[in-house]
Amino acid sequence: MSKWFILPALHKEERGIIGQELKRVERSFFLAQQELLAQARDWANWDDTYEFVQDNYPRYAEVNFSPEMMTEMRYQLIAFFNADGEVYYLSGLAPDDNHFATCTHVVDACAWMAPFIDSIQLSIENNPDQQDFLFPGINSPAMVAITPILRTDSSGPSTGWLAKVRLMDGKWIKQMENVTGLPITIDRQLTAQATPSTTIKGDTIYAQHLLPTNVPAISITVGTQLNRTHYLASLDTIRYVLIWTACLMLFVIGFVLWLMERIILKPLKSLSIFARQTSGENSQLDSALLCQRNDEIGMLARSFDQQLTRQRELNAELLNLSTHDSLTGLPNRRLFDQQLKADIHETQALHQPLAAMMLDIDHFKLFNDHYGHQKGDECLQQVAKALQRIATDHDFLIARTGGEEFSALLPNTSAQRAEQIGYLLHHTVANLKLAHKASPVAPHVTISVGIGSLDESIDISPSALMSNADQALYSAKAAGRHQVIVFKPSIARTSVHTPDAPL
Ligand code: GH3
Ligand code: MG
Ligand code: MG
Repeated sequence: MSKWFILPALHKEERGIIGQELKRVERSFFLAQQELLAQARDWANWDDTYEFVQDNYPRYAEVNFSPEMMTEMRYQLIAFFNADGEVYYLSGLAPDDNHFATCTHVVDACAWMAPFIDSIQLSIENNPDQQDFLFPGINSPAMVAITPILRTDSSGPSTGWLAKVRLMDGKWIKQMENVTGLPITIDRQLTAQATPSTTIKGDTIYAQHLLPTNVPAISITVGTQLNRTHYLASLDTIRYVLIWTACLMLFVIGFVLWLMERIILKPLKSLSIFARQTSGENSQLDSALLCQRNDEIGMLARSFDQQLTRQRELNAELLNLSTHDSLTGLPNRRLFDQQLKADIHETQALHQPLAAMMLDIDHFKLFNDHYGHQKGDECLQQVAKALQRIATDHDFLIARTGGEEFSALLPNTSAQRAEQIGYLLHHTVANLKLAHKASPVAPHVTISVGIGSLDESIDISPSALMSNADQALYSAKAAGRHQVIVFKPSIARTSVHTPDAPL
């Protein structure tokens, strides 16, 4: 990210900064040129000078020119021209050896001045309004200021021209560096080859700009450089900030994920387990915590909980309905058959006896006919209740397996014991003393009981056991009803007992 977005932005910023610094250097050059021009005007607008170039002030040169003045004012050359642009007087310090010379012609000690004088004369001739320019120079570039010579009050006519030349040498550059506080380089280059540019090398940035000279083919390049410590420090700071931002973001993402896991995902997982539990899967989940929550998950959990409770109630109800008789509340034939199979299986495995019993209300049709169906139902309920009480006391199953017919299943019970229980049931019903005026057997409701047992039978199938009990019941009916008969294959299907007392 820093490579694509931040670094280019920083580089642009750096280039902008060095561009501004370079402009500052150029402004200081411009000021220096203005200063030189002002100094030239100071001399040119002076009555003494005015008189001097008209040969009216012979001591002017003697009074005003000295090597000390030239050095102190950093003038390389002061040149006077008459109104025709011809050299009138020259004063200069030779660039090679600082030799001071004054002449009236560009010869001998003043021969070195020739290129300057040529340029100045060219400028006076071709472009009299041009007051200053940069000169490419011989060893160093130079700045030149030219101004017409007038009286002190600026009145004319102009009697000639005054030019001052200052070298832009090492000393001068040093001075400019002090003024600007920036390192400055100056070079001369062919204009065609020179281009303004900004270059970054390591921890330094360079910039250079072109300044035109009076020789169009040659330009002066002025350059400066800046240390990039500020930029590199910024880069380090940015990297530091980026790393910390990335760490912070990772931390925040981690924290948010952790929060989501804690607040949403974990409860949702629990809810999903809870939902599976609702759909019948066994689960150890403690739903209380989930139901106590005050958020939407808590609402869902409570709703699931209610649904689960309701479903369990309905299942229990359904199971009860499918396995119990609605009139008497006793187990029905379906449950009896299931239990019969299971008990036979267990009996075989454990080699224990098993007894089954069929009980039928005697002459119940006559009861209905006499008392009505409603009373018949009530009678059935009372008989069932009495039978169930005995079954509960002696821990065996009794079911309503037909209209007025019941069946009992007595695991781990011998035939003798079953017979005793048969009599107990038989007497219990008789002792209810439910009036049955239409019965030819007794004035109250009675039952007949048939018993089959597995320890007596070779065939151990459920149907065989029940068939034995059925045959025994049939025998009881045939023998006059109101009795208990245990199935015995050896006898003619019946043995009649009338016990005196219940168990
Ligand atoms: P038996 O002594 O030979 O058993 O004579 P029974 O009259 O009891 O036997 P039968 O099979 O001839 O008649 C059974 C009667 O039981 C017929 C029917 O009206 C009555 N019954 C069956 N289921 C119900 C019931 O749910 N409610 C009432 N009120 N009567 C029923
Ligand atoms: Mg009957
Ligand atoms: Mg019957």
